[in-house]
Amino acid sequence: MSTAHAIENLRTALSCLPGVGPKSAQRMAYYLIERNREGARGIAAALMHALDSIQHCKRCNNLSETELCSLCSSTSRKHSLLCIVETPADLEAIEQTGSYKGSYFVLMGTISPLDGVGPDNIGIERLLEVLKEFDIEEIIIATNLTAEGETTAEFLTELLSTKDAASNIRLTRIARGVPVGGELEYIDRNTVARAINDRQEIDHKQQEPENS
Ligand SMILES: [Zn+2]
Repeated sequence: MSTAHAIENLRTALSCLPGVGPKSAQRMAYYLIERNREGARGIAAALMHALDSIQHCKRCNNLSETELCSLCSSTSRKHSLLCIVETPADLEAIEQTGSYKGSYFVLMGTISPLDGVGPDNIGIERLLEVLKEFDIEEIIIATNLTAEGETTAEFLTELLSTKDAASNIRLTRIARGVPVGGELEYIDRNTVARAINDRQEIDHKQQEPENS
């Protein structure tokens, strides 16, 4: 492989990162090879190690080095309370408030038809398995108050209203203290804590047939 090819391959590989266009990828490639080979080896080794050791926690779907992450295996958490978030960063934002002691489910994305991301592309199937497997009393839908987050919340509400496994579960949505368009990751701790504490009931029970 010629040098030009090797650099070209590196550039193409780097441009798979979000927000990195061809120009930035090229700059990074030259920087790593010309100025910081040690850093480049570090990145390569850390990537290989992460790929080999990180999996999804079988309960909360977050990234974890063990089958069950430390949050899910903790005995001091209320596991019957399940907070559904979009990303590990959102989970972290709620954890940092220190006021939530339940468990989580991380969708690892949101439904976004414009980007071709449907329910099958995020952790919905795993979520339904968790609901069957574990005793959940309340689900807090804490997807962001963005268009995608709201679409996902509506999808979840509708889906759960059709599932027997969820018929006795109290369903709530984080409060509007979070600004419209707000992402938990970027909101101050107090507001996130208030959004969780002031969560509101969602009526998702199936309508009883009229003549019953
Ligand atoms: Zn977990």
